[in-house]
Amino acid sequence: MDNKIIILDKVTKLFKSRKGRVVALDNVSVSINDGEMVAIMGPSGSGKSTLLNIIGGLEKPSHGQVIVDNIKLDKQSIAGLTKYRRKLVGFVFQSYYLQPFLTVRRNIELGAMISRMSKRQRKDRIDVLVRELDIVELLDRYPRQLSGGQVQRVAIARALINNPKIILADEPTGNLDSNNGLAVMNILRKINTDHGTTIVIVTHDHRVATFCDRVININQGQLV
Ligand code: ADP
Ligand code: MG
Repeated sequence: MDNKIIILDKVTKLFKSRKGRVVALDNVSVSINDGEMVAIMGPSGSGKSTLLNIIGGLEKPSHGQVIVDNIKLDKQSIAGLTKYRRKLVGFVFQSYYLQPFLTVRRNIELGAMISRMSKRQRKDRIDVLVRELDIVELLDRYPRQLSGGQVQRVAIARALINNPKIILADEPTGNLDSNNGLAVMNILRKINTDHGTTIVIVTHDHRVATFCDRVININQGQLV
């Protein structure tokens, strides 16, 4: 039985910039098993975020094949990729900030708006998540009233609301002190253990890697 949920085959990603052509990923082949929790590590500019964005269907490869949960992402239309993301992926990205004028509850609900969850289902799901993530008391607050660690837990709740098969996290502990970073990693590990969610975490923090089943190292767009 093939339990590879993420397969990249000879993936290259080129960007055109003012300074010329940038090779962000150079012929990368790698696969990740269903239920695995993996860290992608490498120095700044090595292609980590590009790799994650390609897995998440946010970027298309210039060359090569990307298959996630048997879906050929490199062959999908924009609409196909959007559908794939909604159905299968939860993102925990630093750039996906919470909406400042919405309460924590509304922010978490945003993740569910795009799916066909009923109001009742949404409420029940939020109740479970906020208990699991220990943010029950924060539901009526606004993002500016939260600590960094709390913001990150709310972002995780939002990513989880649709019960995604895959969580993609880009530097989820990047802005946190070590205690909050540990808490976030413990939560991700628990989600992985309890639900079998496949989790891919981009990081340059070696402590994050110790929570993962495997580390994929990347340097200058190539696996090392
Ligand atoms: P990392 O996440 O490891 O810091 P990235 O994947 O963000 O690295 O970037 C890899 C390389 O690709 C870098 O040289 C970066 O400048 C370049 N790059 C990333 N995104 C773009 C883009 N949209 N346009 C041009 N160059 C990009
Ligand atoms: Mg990055």
